Amino acid sequence: MRLVRFHTRKLEPTYGWVYGEKIGLIEGVPYGDYRRLEAEIDIHSVELLPPTQPSKIICVGRNYIEHAKEHGVEVPEVPLLFLKPPSTLIGNGMPIVLPPQSNQVEHEAELAVVIGKRGRWIAPGDAAEYVFGYTVANDVTARDLQRRDGQWTRGKGFDTFCPVGPWIETDLDAFDLLITCRVNQDIRQMASTRDMVFSIPQLIAYASSFMTLEPGDLLLTGTPAGVSPLAAGDVVEVSIEGIGELTNPVVEEAQIA
Ligand code: MG
Repeated sequence: MRLVRFHTRKLEPTYGWVYGEKIGLIEGVPYGDYRRLEAEIDIHSVELLPPTQPSKIICVGRNYIEHAKEHGVEVPEVPLLFLKPPSTLIGNGMPIVLPPQSNQVEHEAELAVVIGKRGRWIAPGDAAEYVFGYTVANDVTARDLQRRDGQWTRGKGFDTFCPVGPWIETDLDAFDLLITCRVNQDIRQMASTRDMVFSIPQLIAYASSFMTLEPGDLLLTGTPAGVSPLAAGDVVEVSIEGIGELTNPVVEEAQIA
């Protein structure tokens, strides 16, 4: 199933499921008991929202060897985790806003895991039970601030720095999926999820060894090589095989103030 969150002029934010170009409403809770109602809403008539409302966005740094190399840093011996605040979230089509504090905002195309069940101390062998599905994410980063601050809260944490969507795909084997990032149609990143240093079960086990994972939480699994700066007027498209394409325009903060 493809799960979306959306709203329209008449409809408050709600969950739906995608059937071709149509959306059907979801009755109940997507992470629990639900029923799919008939798909009769035109997908082009709605505004898509981030497809989940996570209590936290867990991210992994340097989880692809080639990306660590391009920054001249070692691949860590244990997963290097950090958090983005939920206020960074935007949906498909919404603008990434370049803040005036940074001169180097970059895209990071990433596969995101959506947690479906509360858990702590999850063993790698049990991790699949806690996965609800997968979506496409862009771990937008103010690289200059990330370097200058020493820790990453500000560089990774500006509003709009976590585009996610367009939907969650619940039926997918995520072991070997092609991730591509295009900026203005120009390919910047292309790699397979099989090149991850730490696998998804290892990441779930490690994160849940110190924090309780909740339904809806996001785990961004790291970016491959090829990150590059964004400028106002750019359009960034991240696509992942078997899921779909996440497209966001880039604007300067002054343009929306
Ligand atoms: Mg990242």
